Amino acid sequence: MKRKLAAGNWKMNGTNASLGELQSLTTAHPDPRVDILICPPATLIVQAAALTADSPLMIGGQDCHSAPSGAHTGDISAPMLADAGATAVLLGHSERRENHNETSDLVAEKALAAWSAGLTAVICLGETLAQREAAQTLDVIATQLDTSLPDGATGTNTVIAYEPVWAIGTGLTPSTAQIAEVHDFLRARLADRLGAAQANAIRLLYGGSVKPANADEIFATSNVDGALVGGASLKSADFSPIISALE
Ligand code: 13P
Repeated sequence: MKRKLAAGNWKMNGTNASLGELQSLTTAHPDPRVDILICPPATLIVQAAALTADSPLMIGGQDCHSAPSGAHTGDISAPMLADAGATAVLLGHSERRENHNETSDLVAEKALAAWSAGLTAVICLGETLAQREAAQTLDVIATQLDTSLPDGATGTNTVIAYEPVWAIGTGLTPSTAQIAEVHDFLRARLADRLGAAQANAIRLLYGGSVKPANADEIFATSNVDGALVGGASLKSADFSPIISALE
């Protein structure tokens, strides 16, 4: 049985003072029945990884460069993330696709870099509101999945996160029928490419305004293997009940 995954994306939030939230999480979930991943800002990865070294909690990056090293001012490579203690990295988050013009081709290059460094790539995709209203959701998802995911994906090296852009940080969530439609579609498309066994091993997360109040309903939805949580991952008091809902 694959383990479910509760992942938190702190985005550009958090200083050393926030590390106490990780301490609270490890205390509240000493032996969780699901995997827990927190992706703090890069400045906190070393401290976060050290703090959680003796716990099941995993630490990840929020992005990496596609090259292992070189003249890329301000960027961080996948081997650097691994060296800092990260075991995973978010790739292709809509905020990076939009604010940093990241294409799916680039996301695929980054995924290969992540795999080479031994990191799990959490590849994010999702439609905008305009795309949903134009009935393009499944076409957009198909293209993003096909292009962002390199050949060689397994349940160990890859997680896919479906995050509708219009649901991120807005308090809006799709209906469970809408989530199921996309997740079922993702599973089938992965199966076409990788075969059923490998497709079933890859965890499909839902992300976008996940809160303690809606977690149960979302986690009961077809082909949802966990969540990628933004705002509600910043405080252990909010994230802890989401972890418990997944267990
Ligand atoms: P919110 O949970 O704040 O809507 O953010 C979701 C997200 O973007 C996680 O990557």
